[in-house]
Amino acid sequence: MSHTDPSGRTPDRYADWDAAYVLGSLSSAERHEFEKHLEDCPRCAVAVAELAGLPGLLSTLPESTVTELGVSNLPETARAPQKPAVALPKLAHQARRSKIRRRFAAAAVAAAVAASAAGITAALIPHTETSQAQAAGVPLSFSNVDANSVAVTGQALSVAWGTQIEWKCSYQGTPQSSGYEGPKPFELVVIDKQGKETVAASWDAQEDSVVSPVATVLTPIGQIAQIEVRWTNSGKVVVRAVL
Ligand SMILES: [Zn+2]
Repeated sequence: MSHTDPSGRTPDRYADWDAAYVLGSLSSAERHEFEKHLEDCPRCAVAVAELAGLPGLLSTLPESTVTELGVSNLPETARAPQKPAVALPKLAHQARRSKIRRRFAAAAVAAAVAASAAGITAALIPHTETSQAQAAGVPLSFSNVDANSVAVTGQALSVAWGTQIEWKCSYQGTPQSSGYEGPKPFELVVIDKQGKETVAASWDAQEDSVVSPVATVLTPIGQIAQIEVRWTNSGKVVVRAVL
């Protein structure tokens, strides 16, 4: 193209290729050509990223470029791929809406783009969650330290936001029989390799009860040295698992 737009710049002949690219309707030669163009054109790269909900692509661009291109309203997570992926559906939704409003008046095209982007999002999200789930749970082998009336089993799972601890605590007898009075007799304490303690949960031990709590700590699983269940009042360790 030889004409220029009102701003005096040469129009980007690829500016409208993003949807076709995301929809997979470019020929392989065109696809190759467009991908080559994407390497040098942040504007088109952002357009594709918005359509496909691919925050990784945005994250490769300088902040100033992203802002200049008018996508500063995207959530911070769009430029921080290390954050949990839970914001992705929202991001993809926003991107679809803004794109559709801006460029695709034809309802049929809009629907196709939405369906396609939703498909891409659906493909992205399970992948991310799968990779979290694939970090298999570490079984916790609790040894009784204080009271034999308590049996605890559990596991620790690495998740994007820290470590999730799931456990089952069986209690036989009455709290009073262990010399304990008051509510919330137990607490679960996570001790990291520097010796820092975090109380992750507390719960009440009813007579002959079984509880199955779940708690999350920020401490990465690799930094956890021990997990203990203690009597809340005395601080005495009931059971302990060494990781
Ligand atoms: Zn371009």
